[in-house]
Amino acid sequence: MTQFTRQMTVGQFEELFPTDDACKMYLVARRWPNGVHCPRCGSDAKLSYLKARPFHWQCRNCSGTGYRFSVLVGTIFENTKIGLRDWFRVIYMMLTGKKGVAALEIQRVMGFGSYETALYMTHRIRAELVDPEFRKLMGIVEIDETYVGGKNKNRHADKRMVGSGVANKFPVIGAVSRKGTLVARALDSVNVGVADAFIREAVSEKVDLVATDESGLYASLSKKGVPHASVNHMRGEYVRGNVHTQTIDGFRSLLKRGILGTFHNVSKKYLPLYVAEFEWRYNNRTNADIFGSAVGCC
Ligand SMILES: [Zn+2]
Repeated sequence: MTQFTRQMTVGQFEELFPTDDACKMYLVARRWPNGVHCPRCGSDAKLSYLKARPFHWQCRNCSGTGYRFSVLVGTIFENTKIGLRDWFRVIYMMLTGKKGVAALEIQRVMGFGSYETALYMTHRIRAELVDPEFRKLMGIVEIDETYVGGKNKNRHADKRMVGSGVANKFPVIGAVSRKGTLVARALDSVNVGVADAFIREAVSEKVDLVATDESGLYASLSKKGVPHASVNHMRGEYVRGNVHTQTIDGFRSLLKRGILGTFHNVSKKYLPLYVAEFEWRYNNRTNADIFGSAVGCC
C-alpha cells in the first residue's frame, strides 16, 4: 500500500483561514517568499503598497505611470467571482484525500448553485498541477500501462484485453522510480512506438534497471540499449529478485479506484487532467503541506 503523510485537519484549515483576507495574506507569503515582486518585470526596486487598496501594489520599474497589480494577478484566482476562501476550500478538499473528490461532491459541500462552477474550479486547479519540468527517472524504474474509464463489466481483466473490450477505455502509461517519483500520461493509443516515446521522455538514459511485466510493449527494450527485466504475470510470476512492478501497481490501483470510485469515470478530453492530479498527489504523498504546495502552483 502506498503511504500518505497526514494533512492538516478541517479544524486547522478553518483556524488558518477565517476570512478572505487571511487567505490573501497566505497567498502573498506563498507567491513571494522573498518579499513582493512585480509579476510583470520581476523586480521589487520601485514597488509601493497601495494603502487604499488592500493587497494591491504599484510598480514604477516597468511602467512610468505605474503598473498596478493585486496578489491575485496571474493566478487562477484572478477575475473569477469566486472568493479566495472558496478556492482554498476546494483545493483542500481535492488534494488532501488519497482519491480526490468529485465535482458533484464539491458542489454539495460548498453549496454552489451550479455543478459547472465546481467542475470549472477543479479543472483549473488540475491544469496547474501538470508538471512540465520533471527530472528524468533514475535508479530502478517500473513501467506499466493500464486502461481506465469505460463501462466494461470485466474490469479485472482489463490489462489483458486488447480489442473490443477496451474500446471505450482510455490508456494510461506510468513510470515510477523506486526512490519515489512518478510520471504518468494519458495516451490516445498504445503501441511500441508510443511506449518508446514515453520511456525516452520519462526515464533517464542512466537508469539502472527498467522492470515491467511480460507485455510485448517492452519486449525489445534490451535491444534498444535499455537495461530491462520482466516478470511474467501471466504465469503467476510477480517477484524475481528486484524485478517486480509492485510500486507502479500501487499507483495504478489508486488511479483506477479514484477514477471509478470517486469520479465515476471521466471523459477522454479531461483524462490528462485527472492523471495529472493523481500524479501530483502521488509525488507529494510525503509532503506534510500538500495544500500549501498546491496553492503555490496556482
Ligand atoms: Zn514591474
